[in-house]
Amino acid sequence: MGKLYVIGIGPGGLEHMTLKAVKALEESDVIVGYTKYIEFIKPLVKDKPVVSTGMRGEVERCKEALELAKDKIVSIVSTGDAGIYGMAGLILEMRKDEDVEIIPGVTASSAAASVVGAPLMHDNCNISLSDLMTPYELIKKRVELAAEGDFIISLYNPKSHGRPLYLQECMDIIKKYRQGNTPVAVVKNALRDGQETTLFTIDTFDDSEVDMFSIVIIGNSRSFIKDGKFITPRGYRV
Ligand code: SAH
Repeated sequence: MGKLYVIGIGPGGLEHMTLKAVKALEESDVIVGYTKYIEFIKPLVKDKPVVSTGMRGEVERCKEALELAKDKIVSIVSTGDAGIYGMAGLILEMRKDEDVEIIPGVTASSAAASVVGAPLMHDNCNISLSDLMTPYELIKKRVELAAEGDFIISLYNPKSHGRPLYLQECMDIIKKYRQGNTPVAVVKNALRDGQETTLFTIDTFDDSEVDMFSIVIIGNSRSFIKDGKFITPRGYRV
């Protein structure tokens, strides 16, 4: 009997993976995933066979993982949490009768939040600026409503060569609902090699260093910076 583990390996550094994820990888006969992510977990992959495909081969990768899982223990890996812009949904959509178990991981917004302070302490939402599967008009509508609703907003896939202007355009939408001194954090490679952090405000925000390895967190109307830390108050009286 085979089995498919759908694993969120966390932000990248091995120490940020769950014990359950480590155990599942150790137990696996085959590992499936995007080449760059396999690099993060190399010490755990050892000499196990790896099935790697490029970034856009998601359907193909899931099909292969499900096929292998008929008689082998297989792990398909996503960074962060497999259920947040990862492979968990697609695997469940495509599954027939294979045994599938989803193992959660630390998602990029939590990882980045821990690096800059505690910005996600109140109601918050994730929005991906990738328009590969979501029309840009809908993305902008969600940004607008999240800003109007005073959510703390984490922007995943904030900027790529193919869509260099979306981030600034979305910030312009958010600006309509926030004061200029609202904190904005850019965290590149959170909790893995190459980590870089910059704290801005809405007024000083500069997107020139933002790329696909970065996440951008915009505070709500009550967020502030204290001693270099980005905090959103929960509401306790201090
Ligand atoms: N499943 C992943 C998200 C995949 S979408 C998760 O739960 O984290 C890919 C986007 O996630 C990237 O473009 C970037 O915006 C963000 N991301 C993933 N890992 C990151 C990290 N370590 N640091 C900063 N951003 C990261």
